[in-house]
Amino acid sequence: MNSRDLHGIGMTSQRTRRRLVQRLEDEGIKNQDVLNIMSTTPRHLFVDEAMSHRAYEDISLPIGRGQTISQPYIVARMTEILLEAGSCNRILEIGTGSGFQTAILAQLFDKVYSIERIKALQDKARKQLMTLRLMNVEYRYGDGGEGWSEKSPFDAIIVTAAPPVLPRMLMQQLADGGHMVVPVGAVDGKQNLCLIQRVGDDFEKHILESVRFVPLLGGALE
Ligand code: SAH
Repeated sequence: MNSRDLHGIGMTSQRTRRRLVQRLEDEGIKNQDVLNIMSTTPRHLFVDEAMSHRAYEDISLPIGRGQTISQPYIVARMTEILLEAGSCNRILEIGTGSGFQTAILAQLFDKVYSIERIKALQDKARKQLMTLRLMNVEYRYGDGGEGWSEKSPFDAIIVTAAPPVLPRMLMQQLADGGHMVVPVGAVDGKQNLCLIQRVGDDFEKHILESVRFVPLLGGALE
């Protein structure tokens, strides 16, 4: 990749990114590590070229196959919640999508495991992370609702699509003391961002804020 692709021009410039980070701070993101990584990660490379002029607005954007790249605020918020909750070792991500959230996690956690049910999206995301030399990620194509038991337990789990109810199978793959952030609720209704902490065989739940995500769907697609 040449430096023009990486650093961007015009709407994708460093100044535009700094404006986004200022907005994230205004919206309440406080963790400096998260803010720094958000300012240096080229989000325009994770959206279609036709959309790249909007990549540093605080909005979700279409990435094909009816899916979206999450809004920067929610990426930053979910990451901050997990970092402040505990350890930064092994994290499981459900819904690789564009790979932007994966790229943020890969720079803050030792090892990221990421599952996606649409193979074409994951292949594209994997290539983009390779280009950015983010190598501490293992990818799996399949139904993330089942988790990744061979690699469990995880210190943290982030779910970037909304299940209708708490995903019990995933909760079982948390380490003792581990945390999960997950949007829970109906597709058209109100979803709540929940923080789950595992304490032995018990799970403590906190409701954080209302959110809007695409649904967590069953099964894997080509
Ligand atoms: N973090 C991604 C979010 C993408 S949207 C980004 O910012 O780009 C949510 C993603 O979850 C979609 O790519 C969708 O295909 C995926 N998804 C939905 N249900 C899933 C499931 N059961 N297992 C794995 N991925 C799933």
